[in-house]
Amino acid sequence: MNLNKIKEIEAENYMPVFSRHNLCIDHGEGNCLYDINGNKYVDFVAGIATNILGYNHPEYTAAVCEQVHKLMHVSNHYYTQVQSEYLALLAEKSGFKRIFLCNSGAEANECAIKLMRRYAANSGKPCKILASEGAFHGRTLATLTATDNASQHEAYAPLPEGFEHFKYNDFEDFKSKLDDSVCGVLIETIQGERGVRPFTNDFIVNAYALCKSRGILFAVDEVQTGMGRTGKLFSFEHFGIQPDIITMAKGIAGGIPMGACLASEEVGTAFRLGDHGSTFGGNSLACAAAKKTLEILTSGLLESSAAVGEYLGERLAHFSKYNFISDIRGKGLMRGIQLIDKLPAAVFDNKLRERGYLVNVAGNNTIRLIPPLTITKEEIDGLISALDEICASTNI
Ligand SMILES: *Cc1c(COP(=O)(O)O)cnc(C)c1O
Repeated sequence: MNLNKIKEIEAENYMPVFSRHNLCIDHGEGNCLYDINGNKYVDFVAGIATNILGYNHPEYTAAVCEQVHKLMHVSNHYYTQVQSEYLALLAEKSGFKRIFLCNSGAEANECAIKLMRRYAANSGKPCKILASEGAFHGRTLATLTATDNASQHEAYAPLPEGFEHFKYNDFEDFKSKLDDSVCGVLIETIQGERGVRPFTNDFIVNAYALCKSRGILFAVDEVQTGMGRTGKLFSFEHFGIQPDIITMAKGIAGGIPMGACLASEEVGTAFRLGDHGSTFGGNSLACAAAKKTLEILTSGLLESSAAVGEYLGERLAHFSKYNFISDIRGKGLMRGIQLIDKLPAAVFDNKLRERGYLVNVAGNNTIRLIPPLTITKEEIDGLISALDEICASTNI
């Protein structure tokens, strides 16, 4: 089937929600993708921070195939060994004792929102949830409400009640909104979809301390920043804080759909029997994939990818000399290069693709780099050369 036919079918039969590149991917190997015409691309998107082991990672592929032959799915009415092995490993590595397994980031955040409300309700408290301007937490109605997106809020009204947004990085505004009706805060330490926009260390540390002193739950959305993305297993570790709840998805199972909501013993036991559940959540295939992914990550990859992430940061620094690059942000293997508004980031995106590099455009006219954690210095050098070439030939 040629690309035109493929595009025609999508245009006629898929709900019109995606704008896709003129590219049909056939397969992946290592940190590279190949299109149906055999063109090779070094992948700095990784299925949006998801394929953290790249493609066809030998140990991962073997573990997934083995599980497919053995058992893919049974309901959560039964125990499985693979789920319990994964739970024990995730609890050990994360330090969170209570875990709920689901299928996506939105579901993980939905679980966190329900858990915060249940925890508050158990002691008769109201539960408004504070989220940040610029936040992205998912596309279900509750997570869309926590997400900062005015046009979608208008389109999908009426939305669930009990959400409010504070100004990005503005502690005074945060403090003024943290009144007695608030039971929880949901926050990303770096806003990925909004263009790799970080919170300051001061903001996170002060917001956390204020929540602690007031008995308000602090939940960190680690869907994009977790699983080693920022150089630590979870991004909250950079701040020396201990959230009550964190959420995970994207890279959690190396490309197989999965999400998780993790909580402390006290908060995670607020749910009662039958309060929450999932048909697919934590099924055998997802758990086998997640277990192998976490094993690989915590037996060397976390440290090596953190070093490569530092290297990426160093190599990107000199681009600030170009007057059309307005900011370079991020941590580890999550980096953003913001261009001035009159130079659309999509132009750079296209030029990089022509040179065999896939990147992605996030909010604020920002080129986002979120490669597999297995990306090499040589592959980074290649991207930097291509970027150098493009910058040198850009006059604005
Ligand atoms: C991607 C993302 C989500 C939503 O995850 P889905 O799996 O698409 O539902 C939520 N929060 C953050 C920070 C994300 O990056």
